[in-house]
Amino acid sequence: MTTDLLPCPFCGGQPEFWNAREDVLLCTCLAGPGVHGSSKENAIAIWNRRADLSPSSEVVKELVEALELADAALSGADIDMKHVWRKIKSALANAKLEGGE
Ligand SMILES: [Zn+2]
Repeated sequence: MTTDLLPCPFCGGQPEFWNAREDVLLCTCLAGPGVHGSSKENAIAIWNRRADLSPSSEVVKELVEALELADAALSGADIDMKHVWRKIKSALANAKLEGGE
């Protein structure tokens, strides 16, 4: 079973298998490292998991929101630091789940 490849998280382009190998995926933009799987399906799964961390993904949006809240709190806004800390911890936990770590 072959799963569709998500676009490159750096340029939005389509990755390609490298040098006729079906376990190594690269994007021609070379902005990020390729992925090396144990099989074609594994390489695709790893590639697609990484692509979930693109700037428009929910995980990245949540991390940016938490950092913006921390920035506002540290810049003098009347924000409870416990609330900021909970937001950061939640965003980090979700990022780790999405990344499969
Ligand atoms: Zn790319």
